[in-house]
Amino acid sequence: MAVELKEVLVIDDDPLIHAICEAFFRSKFHCPILSATTGAEALEIVGEQQRKLSLILCDLKMPDVDGVQFLRQIKEIDSKIPVIIISGESDRIIALAESIAVSHEINIICSLKKPLDLKKLELIVSNIEAPTHKNTEETELTSGIELAEAIRKKQLVAYYQPKVEPQTHRIRGVEALARWQHPTEGLIYPNRFIPVAERLGFEFLDGIHQNIISQVFADAQSWRKLRLPIKISINLSVDLLNDLTLPDQMMRMTEIHELHPTDFVLEITESKFLESKADQKEVLIRLKMMGFELSIDDFGTGYSNIDLLMTYPFDELKIDQCFIRNALDDDEARAIVESSVSLAKRLKLRTVAEGIETQEQFKYIMSLGIDEIQGYFIERPMSKDIFDKWMFERKTEILEKDAV
Ligand SMILES: [Mg+2]
Repeated sequence: MAVELKEVLVIDDDPLIHAICEAFFRSKFHCPILSATTGAEALEIVGEQQRKLSLILCDLKMPDVDGVQFLRQIKEIDSKIPVIIISGESDRIIALAESIAVSHEINIICSLKKPLDLKKLELIVSNIEAPTHKNTEETELTSGIELAEAIRKKQLVAYYQPKVEPQTHRIRGVEALARWQHPTEGLIYPNRFIPVAERLGFEFLDGIHQNIISQVFADAQSWRKLRLPIKISINLSVDLLNDLTLPDQMMRMTEIHELHPTDFVLEITESKFLESKADQKEVLIRLKMMGFELSIDDFGTGYSNIDLLMTYPFDELKIDQCFIRNALDDDEARAIVESSVSLAKRLKLRTVAEGIETQEQFKYIMSLGIDEIQGYFIERPMSKDIFDKWMFERKTEILEKDAV
C-alpha cells in the first residue's frame, strides 16, 4: 500500500455509497470515513481546524449545496486535498464538472462513474500522493520561484508519445509533452506546473515553451536526418497565441534546424479557445500560411466545437480521451465520438483518438476508421532516448501481436 490515509471524506446523498466506502476504506486502507450528505455539511467538515483530510470523494448531484458548488467553495478553504468525483451523471456533465474544478485549481485526481468500480478505486487511491498542507499562497510562491529556477536551469524536458496508424501499425507521429525533471521530487507532470505558469503570466509560459521547443526541434532534426517520416505535435497554450512574434519565432527555429513547417502539428486546446482575440487569430492564420499544421485538441470538451471548426483552418481533430474511455459503456460518449469522427471526415480533417488503453477500445476505434491512435495501448510518453530505442525495435511490428 503506497499511501497512508488519515481521513477520507465521502460526500454523497446516497447512504449506500457511504456504506460501501466505509467497508472499502476500512478493509483496504485501515481508515474510517467521514460522511457528509450535502455540500454544506462537507464545507463545515473541511473548514474545521486541524482537520487533515487525505482524500475527498464527491458526488455531483446533491440537495442543498451540490458537488459543483462545493468544488467552487472548497478552494477558499483548501484546494490541495485530492478529490475524486463520483457521479451517476452523464459523461458530458462529469467531464464539464471536472474541467470547472480544474479551472478552480482543485486537486482533481479523476472522476469515477457510478456504480463504483472498487478495483479501479483501489488502484487510484493507492497512487495518490500525500497532500501538502501549506497554505495556498505559500505553495504557489514556492512553485513560482522553483518554476523560474527550473526554466533557467532548463529542467523542463520533452517526452514523446507515439501516434500510430491503426490499420498499418505504422508510427505517423509523436506528441511532445512537457515534463519537469525536478532535482529532488523526480518527474513532475504538467498539470502541476502549467496552471501555475498560466497564473504567473506569459513570461513563465513562454519560458516553458522555449525550453521544450528547443529540445523538440533538435530531436526532430535528428529524426529527420534518419529519414523518419514522423510529424511532431507540439501543444501550444492559448495564452502563447497572444504573442504576435510567435509565427516568426517558430519559422526561424524551423529554418535553423533545416526542417519544414509541415513536419509539425500545433495542438491547440479547444476548451480554452473561447475568447480568441484578433491577435490570436492572426498568429494562427500566419502559422497556417507558413505551413504548420493545426490540430484542435481535447475535442468535445469545449463549448463551441462546430463554430471553431468553421472559423479556423484546422488539419486535425483529436477526440478527448474521456469520451474514448467511456464510449463502450455510455451512449452519450459514443455519440460524441462518432459524431466528431463523421464531422471531421466531412470537413476532411485527420482524426486522432487519444487515450486508447484496451484491445476493445482499439477494435472500436478501428471500426470507425479513425486515422491515428494514441494511448497506453500503444505506449506511454517516453524520454527521447527510450523513444528512440522503442521506435527502432518495434516500429513496424507494434500491435501486430494484438492485431484484429
Ligand atoms: Mg495534446
